[in-house]
Amino acid sequence: MEKDFNYWVEKGKAMVDERQEMVTKTKKWKFDTIATHGLYNATQAMELNNASIMEPVYLTPAQAYSNSAEMEVALSYKMPNWCYTRIANPSTYFLEEAAALLETYGTDMEATCLATASGMSAIRTATDPFLAKHPDYPNPNIVTCSKVYGGTFQQFWVRRKQEQGIEVRWVTEPTNIEAWQEKIDKNTRFVYGEFPSNPSVDIFDIEEVAKLAHSFGIPLIVDATCASPALTRPLCLGADIVIQSASKVIGGSGTSIMGFMVAKKGITSKIGTDEMKADFATWAKLWPFRDNGPAVNPMAAIMTLNDMRTLRMRIKQMSENSLKTAQFLEAHPKVGEVHYPGLPSYHAHDIAKRYMKLADSGENMYGYMLAVEIKEGKGWGSENSRKFYDALQMIWRATDLGRIKTVATLNAISTHQQQGEEGRALANIKPNTCRISCGIEHVDDIIKDLNQALDAI
Ligand SMILES: *Cc1c(COP(=O)(O)O)cnc(C)c1O
Repeated sequence: MEKDFNYWVEKGKAMVDERQEMVTKTKKWKFDTIATHGLYNATQAMELNNASIMEPVYLTPAQAYSNSAEMEVALSYKMPNWCYTRIANPSTYFLEEAAALLETYGTDMEATCLATASGMSAIRTATDPFLAKHPDYPNPNIVTCSKVYGGTFQQFWVRRKQEQGIEVRWVTEPTNIEAWQEKIDKNTRFVYGEFPSNPSVDIFDIEEVAKLAHSFGIPLIVDATCASPALTRPLCLGADIVIQSASKVIGGSGTSIMGFMVAKKGITSKIGTDEMKADFATWAKLWPFRDNGPAVNPMAAIMTLNDMRTLRMRIKQMSENSLKTAQFLEAHPKVGEVHYPGLPSYHAHDIAKRYMKLADSGENMYGYMLAVEIKEGKGWGSENSRKFYDALQMIWRATDLGRIKTVATLNAISTHQQQGEEGRALANIKPNTCRISCGIEHVDDIIKDLNQALDAI
């Protein structure tokens, strides 16, 4: 048979069907099985990868085509292909497919994942398209929780507002649905929140805020880095797009910086074409992401995939450690408030109980991150916090989290230094706030180190 234009179009359709069949089969597996195997199976290993049981690392920029007809069909996106590593790559493909399956785990929903060079570029890639010029909505605004990651705060406040003139409306009380409602109007392009927020560990009612956003015809974008799909899957609760900084717990052993943007099929938006809304992540990959260029390195993709296979068991151990650590700190006389969704004293413990459950076990687990306020002598100093911080021996002083190693951060002088006093107040970061991200060590050793460091005050 002549391998002409139609031949490749037909082959493309068969490839799409084959992938769909694999997705259907894989969706019947449990969380850990999907995370371990994803869409990589023996048939593909035999046909494409010298029978290797592990996914290939394709360190190469471009795909070759057997003739001009294949090239023409591939580059008009009429058959699945990867063509150039800035757009796609077979190693990245296996990571993206597994991540999308985990974000929709336990439902019939389908989603698509786009892996990006960092969590920040995932946020940029997810939000850019909704801010495009539109004659009916001339003055775009963003409604977002004010308690967000420092980089996100800067991206919205400096890049969007100060440089581009896009209004940013902060919601300071995210558990209050009216606080969201009163900020949204017809020029709002999207609603944004973190679940839980880094580092102040605040949350919001995802289902309620999704309903609200949809009543205005706009999408809800949720950054769920600090929960991960092993605990909370916002797409299954009504959100349109989920962001993961895969640099954190997904890539928990800490080899790479990477982001995921995962979108459900058929998002809600007043902006954009039908093609964009039908499959936002694929559309973004083929058009704006291709043109903007925050692609991932295939080596990093496979290292992240290797870590992602053990996500659920790590989240379990880290959550158990975090709860015990939070209980220890809450009872300690030198510690003020402890913000951890698993504590009954947590201001939105009921919402946390509803939305934070370990996949498959169904047990409430509350993630790896806690924010602790060290008691200071007068007012809002940081003298005691620094004494405590500098006395840590095993626990790392770094601006990192989600790691298998326990890490502590003084956020006012690090991640949230640049957003200033006012910005820190919006994000609820005090000079004595210490973020602790519990790793997988034995919890006794974590508590022992914290205890001796508190003795230094
Ligand atoms: C770290 C982080 C980001 C940014 O991710 P990078 O991979 O560092 O670019 C975004 N959101 C949250 C909640 C984070 O913790």
